Amino acid sequence: MKHADAPVTLADCSALDAADPLAGKRGEFHLPEGVIYLDGNSLGPLPKGVERRVVDLIRRQWGEDLIVSWNKHGWMDLPAKVGARIARLVGAEPEAVISADSTSVNLFKLVCAALALNPGRMTILSDSGNFPTDLYIAAGAASLMNHGAAALMDQGVSLRVVTPEAVLDAIDSDTALVMLTHVDYRTGRVHDMAAITAAAQAKGALMLWDLAHSAGALPVELAGCNADFAVGCSYKYLNGGPGAPAWLYVAPRHQPAARSPLSGWLGHAAPFAFDLDYRPAEGIGRFICGTPNMLSLVALDAALDAFDGVDMAMIRTKSMALGDLFIRLVEQECEGFALGSPAEAVQRGSQVSLRHRQGYAIMQALIARGVIGDFREPDVLRFGLCPLYVRYADIWAAVQHLKAVMVGAEWQRTEFQTRAKVT
Ligand SMILES: *Cc1c(COP(=O)(O)O)cnc(C)c1O
Repeated sequence: MKHADAPVTLADCSALDAADPLAGKRGEFHLPEGVIYLDGNSLGPLPKGVERRVVDLIRRQWGEDLIVSWNKHGWMDLPAKVGARIARLVGAEPEAVISADSTSVNLFKLVCAALALNPGRMTILSDSGNFPTDLYIAAGAASLMNHGAAALMDQGVSLRVVTPEAVLDAIDSDTALVMLTHVDYRTGRVHDMAAITAAAQAKGALMLWDLAHSAGALPVELAGCNADFAVGCSYKYLNGGPGAPAWLYVAPRHQPAARSPLSGWLGHAAPFAFDLDYRPAEGIGRFICGTPNMLSLVALDAALDAFDGVDMAMIRTKSMALGDLFIRLVEQECEGFALGSPAEAVQRGSQVSLRHRQGYAIMQALIARGVIGDFREPDVLRFGLCPLYVRYADIWAAVQHLKAVMVGAEWQRTEFQTRAKVT
């Protein structure tokens, strides 16, 4: 047994890989030669089974069976089928999740639905750790509401943003909805879902969780926490591909009364009756708006195969170990970085962030070496650690590259200084 303070070696990392129960999963992904991919929190890599399914959809289903495919190949049922598969990963009732639209659009639908379910209360409460689109959408939904009846009452709906630590104390009798992102996209800090949900509900507020950086990354218990609403992304830890359809959750107890503001025909109780009046479908289906994007949805369905037979607790165990290893190796091998994530693994999602004033240039130099992470303003180097395909030895190699970038001052090269359009 090695002493806990002894330096970690490559051999230690290889031994961890040899004992890793998830090691076999890596083979299910296409990972380019020479790349260490630590950005699956922004865009998950390509699962190998996706191409066959998408090509089949194009050639055989669309190409040969044409419009008959909506029935014959179950296209119409796929949003709910994919929703049920995601539900398992986030601890939700299978019939309470549907795949549709983007995370931003789903936020809009649920913010509006929640405000309508909690009339008389005028505040949407969120925190400054939230992702910008969440805040923009909430502000947009609030201002839209204020053009209607609420404005006549002279007290419009407003968005209140406090620090993450101040959320619990800020919930009051005017709070209609608490809307938070579970895992902070910059730091990886995890909110206590059960405690905040209970506190919000005790004060009469509804709770909406954004699980963009949680679904597929760590165990979540939406039903167990009694959450009211949730949304999430599918192109991050769920590996559904660029712009993959997002998903949304409405607790079964709210489904009869919750209404989508985007009352499109496919959320109608009988879309093909072509009624002139809108009548929402029973259940979660009413939160579908228009025709699902089949090319993307089938890719997501295929991508979810990677989670078959995988217990989220196993993913969490490895994710925490990868994070601890990364932090320990950076401390051991590199100088000049501050830890931008909680040091305690239980308080971190599946990422580690480092902070450095030259973070942008350092990340570009790392990417040039084949270690792909990303940068977030103002100084955050973000490394996503996805247990399905990241090995312990990859963490070793990534830190060695980081060390080389710093020791050789590679980041000072001019080509690494200018910001690209997507960072
Ligand atoms: C990635 C992310 C989004 C993205 O929303 P899109 O509509 O897919 O662009 C939203 N919220 C959070 C918290 C995210 O991390």
